Amino acid sequence: MYKIIDGKEISSATKQKAKEEVLALNEKGISVCLAVIIVGEDPASKIYVANKKKACEALGIKSIEYALDADTTEEELLSLIETLNSEKSVNGILCQLPLPSHLDEKIIINAISPEKDVDAFHTKNVGKIMIGDYDFVPCTPAGIMEMLEYEGISVEGKNCVVIGRSNIVGKPMGMLLLHKNGTVTICHSKTKNLVEICKTADILVAAVGKANFVTEDMVKEGAVVIDVGMNRDNGKLCGDVDFENVSKKASAITPVPGGVGPMTIAMLMKNTVTAAKKQNEV
Ligand code: NAP
Repeated sequence: MYKIIDGKEISSATKQKAKEEVLALNEKGISVCLAVIIVGEDPASKIYVANKKKACEALGIKSIEYALDADTTEEELLSLIETLNSEKSVNGILCQLPLPSHLDEKIIINAISPEKDVDAFHTKNVGKIMIGDYDFVPCTPAGIMEMLEYEGISVEGKNCVVIGRSNIVGKPMGMLLLHKNGTVTICHSKTKNLVEICKTADILVAAVGKANFVTEDMVKEGAVVIDVGMNRDNGKLCGDVDFENVSKKASAITPVPGGVGPMTIAMLMKNTVTAAKKQNEV
């Protein structure tokens, strides 16, 4: 019998903790504020930004949205970031990706002060994750670690296989598992013998972006399966894992929706509170 790892329940617990920390900061006369920049009219980005705003409101975090025109220049965007960097009342800054193609994401992200980079995409924060000395971790892998901890799933000594090597999910995921003493393999589109490697996993994380990519024959009996994917299959939201069949072999598994997804925003809130605490030396 497998256990469903309930992202809604765990994210509620994470957000509740963050809310209590916000209240404690308020009692010290400190308010918490997140600035969110969105450039252009990408509908998915607009939904993500609206959800972030809603989460902030529920937790007592002030959120300021900067909705900029699609033709905003790099200079204009950098100037806004510079202003927000020096604005003491702003604790966290995030720039919703993707940006329109005339804007260089690397330049923009690296212009955000690392101390306010609550997405943890700045190269300084990426480097800090590498050496295991970090305050912020990209929200999705951080949320997965929170889920494992909440469920009492130890990583130490386990074979951990991550499918996907993106900078926002796969690579940091691998590093976090390594810091918890997992034995980590990161796979990608050029990996040979993917099925065989996946079958060695005690903890299997799928971050591929392809519906039903992970099938039953790739999973060891009793494995913990974490599905990061957010895909549409005939219009229906689904992950990277063939849940129906893989769940029969797994000891624990995250569903889509209701698994990793809800954790991402919860971890953004946590990072924002961390930023406020660090900046105010609490
Ligand atoms: P990405 O940047 O497109 O990376 C996908 C990774 O999958 C790449 O490293 C790619 O390998 C690998 N891959 C593709 N085909 C493969 C194959 N046949 N065998 C093995 N590896 C293969 O995607 P991402 O940003 O990491 O996101 C992955 C998924 O997670 C997407 O569905 C995304 O929507 C979802 N996501 C969900 C959340 C959430 O909050 N739930 C957050 C972020 C992302 P190469 O590097 O060799 O191309």
